[in-house]
Amino acid sequence: MRVYSFPRGGLSFNDPTAPSKGSSVLAFLPAISIVPLNSNSSGNVYPLVSPGDLVREGMLIGRASGAGAVNAHATVPGRVLRKVSWKGSEGFFYDALVIRMEGAFEKLGRREEIFPWQGMNSYDLLRVITEYGIVEMENRGRSLAEMIFTFRRTVNKIALVVRCVFDDPWLAADYTLCRERLEDLVEGCFITAQACAKAERVIFAVSHTDKELGEQLLARAGKYNIPSSLVFVGSRYPQRNRRELELALRMYEKNENLDFGSFMILGPSTLAAVYDAVKLKKPIMDRYVAVGGSAVRRPQVMKVRIGTRINELIEQCGGFVDRPAKIVAGSPLQGRPVVDLDEPVDKACFAVFAMLKAPGNHTEQNCINCGECRAVCPLGLDPEELYKRIIAADIRESDACKCHGCGCCKVVCPSALPLSDIILKEKLGVNHA
Ligand code: SF4
Ligand code: SF4
Repeated sequence: MRVYSFPRGGLSFNDPTAPSKGSSVLAFLPAISIVPLNSNSSGNVYPLVSPGDLVREGMLIGRASGAGAVNAHATVPGRVLRKVSWKGSEGFFYDALVIRMEGAFEKLGRREEIFPWQGMNSYDLLRVITEYGIVEMENRGRSLAEMIFTFRRTVNKIALVVRCVFDDPWLAADYTLCRERLEDLVEGCFITAQACAKAERVIFAVSHTDKELGEQLLARAGKYNIPSSLVFVGSRYPQRNRRELELALRMYEKNENLDFGSFMILGPSTLAAVYDAVKLKKPIMDRYVAVGGSAVRRPQVMKVRIGTRINELIEQCGGFVDRPAKIVAGSPLQGRPVVDLDEPVDKACFAVFAMLKAPGNHTEQNCINCGECRAVCPLGLDPEELYKRIIAADIRESDACKCHGCGCCKVVCPSALPLSDIILKEKLGVNHA
């Protein structure tokens, strides 16, 4: 088995406090849910319901308008209590509807009707993806329909990459989904390829440590008429990042004398959501979330309704063993701080992590010039120098802009300097100037 990897830097990231990659448990249905209207989008989403209205499970409750916006749906049946303006942890406000669960579930526990898609053209598929509010279920939760439109407009040939790269134990939710919904995600991948119209190949990019998973994916793909490739990639963090994954795939392309065109890279959760939208006519109502960390009594992967508050997930995991020092949504390496435990799970939240105290020395000290940060930077930057120059307000614009925020430099720094935080802040400041 040949393994393709990015050439330099990176680190092996293990965390025994992450939930084990096994099976998921169903999170309790939330008595009160806070359904974000536009937490992951830049456009406007206009509520179609008002306080006092009854909503059905899966009903359209927010209509997207403008670039970046996606439709919002009720994730439980109930009554709308109020509309709130919620302050996200990154400081911006978004609208959300507070819904008290009541009434009957129309989808949960019912036999699902299956709709065929093979005869649908790409525009019909895109219309369904738009209608059901499908987003990239990670990062900033970009609209999938817009991503596909952009690719169709700007490139002639697309290779759809299924990113099953587990370089971070906090990706346990995606891993569990791969195990529990393998057929669905493969079918969702070929539906997406048909929606792209220009997708000439599907590539399963799989961590070399998960050989069996890769072979199962490829075997299931055999029944579709778009050719597929299985590429084993390294498991060193940040292999999953777009840049590092592209580097590995271009090496494979060159070795095999192929021509992939442009890569459209999507994760398992997004592809399973496409399957739900097109085959089951279901919007995104739930997602897999890895909940754990040293402060959580019983870490586990949970299948959670969108809008469930984080404190309810923690409670179902046995609560905190002690007061957490930090709570993060996403991976400890690149996640964002959670400032309020009433914050709801949104479509892009794949992990919630609460730690008692960070390992190692956490008092900032002077740089000891050990060079660790330089050794792990996959871009070959000098994080120490960048950091010092930003602090001294002596920075050229392009220096910080190259950083893609993997966080490797910060993790290895024995002086606990917030290297990537400061570099990224500078990058955003430069970009917004
Ligand atoms: S400088 Fe940026 S790209 Fe390099 S290791 Fe730090 S966060 Fe990653
Ligand atoms: S890892 Fe930290 S202490 Fe070591 S050179 Fe980089 S900034 Fe300095």
